[in-house]
Amino acid sequence: MCKTLRVRWTLIPQTAPQPWIACSGCGGPRPFRCSGKIRLNANGRRLDAWLIYRCLACDKTWNRPVFERQNVRAIDPRLLEALQSNDPDWIRTLAFDVEALRRKAHRVDEFPDCAIDKEILEEPPGWTSLRIELAAPSPVDLRLDRLMAAELKIPRARLKALHESGSLRTEPEGMLRRRIRSGTLVVVDLSAEDRRMPCWREWATVDPT
Ligand SMILES: [Zn+2]
Repeated sequence: MCKTLRVRWTLIPQTAPQPWIACSGCGGPRPFRCSGKIRLNANGRRLDAWLIYRCLACDKTWNRPVFERQNVRAIDPRLLEALQSNDPDWIRTLAFDVEALRRKAHRVDEFPDCAIDKEILEEPPGWTSLRIELAAPSPVDLRLDRLMAAELKIPRARLKALHESGSLRTEPEGMLRRRIRSGTLVVVDLSAEDRRMPCWREWATVDPT
């Protein structure tokens, strides 16, 4: 059985998706960016909560509803606490929830820039295959082959050739040219590539700067 260098790449997108909203300041649809701020409005026992976005061109605000006219007692206390404290983790999760945003806007721009945290899970001596587990806590708008080519510093044509020869495979299958999904595995058989081992290791395990 071949020995495998196992690594995990955790992808952290850097720019939140931007919905296009009809802007009353500009008089037409414009991209809006997340301000990272929550606005709460109490009306008796009813509470509204919005995540605030701002027009990129004129700074006008758009209130993205988190909920509206909710009875305070019906709200999960942890959610209320997160909203009242502008909890950055909670806001980040909401800001990157592109599916929820698409229900509010016909057009949503996404950005492929992401930070990658590379972690070695297992490194047996004399390994001859590389296994990369992809973790994406928030959706990442990036194709798997583009990520692999950029990080492993090999042309996409070569990745394709490795894939076609069976030296590179993905689980689930057929993910190479698709958008990255959390939990996807990439396995590369490098037994025919002895001399390249040091650079494969470096590129697979060192975070980009
Ligand atoms: Zn505007």
